[in-house]
Amino acid sequence: MHSPGEDLHEDYIEKIKRLKAQRNAVILVHNYQLPEVQDIADIMGDSLDLSRAAIEADCSVVVFCGVQFMAEIASILNPGKIVLLPVEEAGCRAADMITVERLKAMKAQFPDAAVVCYVNSSAAIKAESDICCTSRNAIEVVRSLKDYERVIFIPDGNLARWVQSRVPDKEMIPWEGFCPTHVMVSKEEILCSKQQHQGAEFIAHPECELDILALADCVGGTGEMLDYVRNSPCRKFIVGTEMGLTHRLKKENPDKSFYSPSKSFVCPDMKLTTLEKVAHALETMTYRIEVPENIRQRAKVSLDRMLR
Ligand code: SF4
Repeated sequence: MHSPGEDLHEDYIEKIKRLKAQRNAVILVHNYQLPEVQDIADIMGDSLDLSRAAIEADCSVVVFCGVQFMAEIASILNPGKIVLLPVEEAGCRAADMITVERLKAMKAQFPDAAVVCYVNSSAAIKAESDICCTSRNAIEVVRSLKDYERVIFIPDGNLARWVQSRVPDKEMIPWEGFCPTHVMVSKEEILCSKQQHQGAEFIAHPECELDILALADCVGGTGEMLDYVRNSPCRKFIVGTEMGLTHRLKKENPDKSFYSPSKSFVCPDMKLTTLEKVAHALETMTYRIEVPENIRQRAKVSLDRMLR
C-alpha cells in the first residue's frame, strides 16, 4: 500500500504527463534536483548539457527544473521555444555575487585581460564577457586563449584557483565569489569520511576549496563525476558535491555505494522545485524566462565561443 505522500506524488506525476503532452513540453532536470523531480525528467544533466539537449528536442515548451541562470541559458540558445522555470525565485547565490557595474570596473582596471565567465552567472554578465566556460571545460577554455596572458575569471574564485593550478602560464585574476554550498565542507569532514569509508574514492567539484580538491581522486563537474564513477573499478565513493547527485549515481550504479561527507552539501535553491510546482508551471505556463534581445545576442556570442 502507498503512503499518502506517495499517492500525492502519483497524482502529480499523472497530471504532469497529461499537461506535458498537451503543451508539447520537455522536462529538463539538473543533477542537483530532488529525487522525485529527477525521476520525471525527459533529460537530465548539468546546465549546459540540458540547454544543448533543448536545442535538439522537438518541443514547443521547455520546463527547466533548476535555477534562474540555467533557464536563461536555455532561453538564450532556444529563442523559438517557451522556457519555464517552475519556481521564479530559484536563484544561484554564487551567480548573484557579481554585478555588471562591478565587472565593468574590473575590466577597466585590467584592460589587457580576457574575461572568462563560468556559466553560473546571469545573462547580463555573460553578455559582458569574452567567453563562457563550465566546470568541465574551464581549463580547456583558459588554455585556448592564446592571445591573452591575463584572465579575469568570474564569478567563482575557487574554480579560478583550480584552473590556475592547472594552467600556470596564465595569470588568473579571480573574482572572489563562491558557491555557499560547496565551501561549507571542511577538510576535517573529508578526512573523517575517508577514515570511515576506507578504500573509497573521493570525487570533488571544483567549486570546493583547493585544500579539499587536493584530497580528491577526481575533480570535475557533475558530468565528469558520473563518467568517472561509471568507469572506475572502485565500489565506494565519497561524493564532494551537492547531495542531489547521489540519487543519480545510485540509480546508474546500483552495485556501488555513495557517501556524502557533509550534511551541508545541500543547495537550498535547487530544492525549491517540487512535483507540485512542475505541474503548476505546466498548467499556468509560468514562470516564463525571457532574456532581452540585446543581452541575449551578446550572451550567445560568449556561449557560442565556448561551444566552438
Ligand atoms: Fe549556485 Fe552553488 Fe546552488 Fe549551484 S549549488 S546553483 S553554484 S548556489
